[in-house]
Amino acid sequence: MRILVTGAAGFLGSHLVERLLAEGHEVIGMDNFITGSEQNLAHLAGNPRFSFIRHDVANFIFVPKKVDAVMHFASPASPNPNSPYGYTNLPIQTMKAGALGTHNTLGVARAHNARFLLASTSEIYGDPLEHPQKETYWGHVDPIGVRSVYDEAKRFAEALTMAYHRYHGIDTRIVRIFNTYGPRMRLDDGRVVPNFIQQALRKEPLTVYGDGSQTRSFCYVSDLIEGIYRLLLSDEHDPVNIGNPNEISILEFAETINRLTGNPAGIEFKPDLRLGDDPQRRQPDITRAKTILKWSPQVSLEEGIAATIPYFRSQMEQV
Ligand code: NAD
Ligand code: UDP
Repeated sequence: MRILVTGAAGFLGSHLVERLLAEGHEVIGMDNFITGSEQNLAHLAGNPRFSFIRHDVANFIFVPKKVDAVMHFASPASPNPNSPYGYTNLPIQTMKAGALGTHNTLGVARAHNARFLLASTSEIYGDPLEHPQKETYWGHVDPIGVRSVYDEAKRFAEALTMAYHRYHGIDTRIVRIFNTYGPRMRLDDGRVVPNFIQQALRKEPLTVYGDGSQTRSFCYVSDLIEGIYRLLLSDEHDPVNIGNPNEISILEFAETINRLTGNPAGIEFKPDLRLGDDPQRRQPDITRAKTILKWSPQVSLEEGIAATIPYFRSQMEQV
């Protein structure tokens, strides 16, 4: 296939591009580098099956050659207001990437009669009242909260994707991605994995927001990409959760990072910065992915963190 990947210079986009090339596909990457980096794609320069277009997906997208699939990953993704790359500091761009960007990428899929895959998120469940979260859960989202620029843009993106599927017959897929980590996450985007690993390698205390009782379920990037690739090849049009159901409190996660890195500095509790919008619990129900895609995560938290630490160490040496 010839596949357009938006957000190609980001963390997940760059791993996805690599996987698609390894499977023998031709890939056109698209990005405007608002939170991504050229460095994430540098090793692909010279690959005859890879090309790149620098472009903001909020503007009309023209792809001259026929494409068989469009995978829309372009969007800021970190909620942290302390980082310039956090979506609360890029609110309009975030809404435009999710709304206009989804409209434009669906337009490309329609023009080329291509299949379409939307990168959605567990955030569409908001601060969930159902636990773990099944795809049938409608969510608990504040439409004007600080995270709403991301949550509502993704909810709109899902609705628009289903509208193109139902009304125009576009062959669409929606993946709801739960917290994923690994090499090529931005050192300074403020998400918990880069923050904690960086602090641990500097032998500083890890900054736990609130009391650390909030939970997340962390998936290693290679597992996520495997699930997404299977979804692309499937015929499933309804949303599918992809994530690791191994739920852990942020406090326990901080203790794990300190143990794995031998950091003696402990933990520093910080006020919750999220104005109450920080979801208290998050765990995917992956029954649908298991049944339809025959997929389940293979990489343990210890293995994934061990594979991620060298990347952050090398990035810190470059700063
Ligand atoms: P990232 O910030 O590393 O990557 C996003 C990429 O999109 C960046 O390269 C950025 O420059 C690009 N981009 C943003 N707006 C753009 C625009 N208007 N035009 C062109 N390019 C644009 O983040 P990520 O973690 O790789 O996330 C990728 C996708 O996966 C996002 O859609 C995000 O919502 C979704 N997601 C990620 C996670 C996760 O845990 N990593 C969880 C849920 C959903
Ligand atoms: N968090 C934290 N310390 C940090 C960064 C994040 O305690 O330095 C917490 C944050 O409050 C949230 C969780 O870790 O409860 C995950 O945050 P992240 O920014 O990675 O993404 P989220 O899952 O909230 O979208």
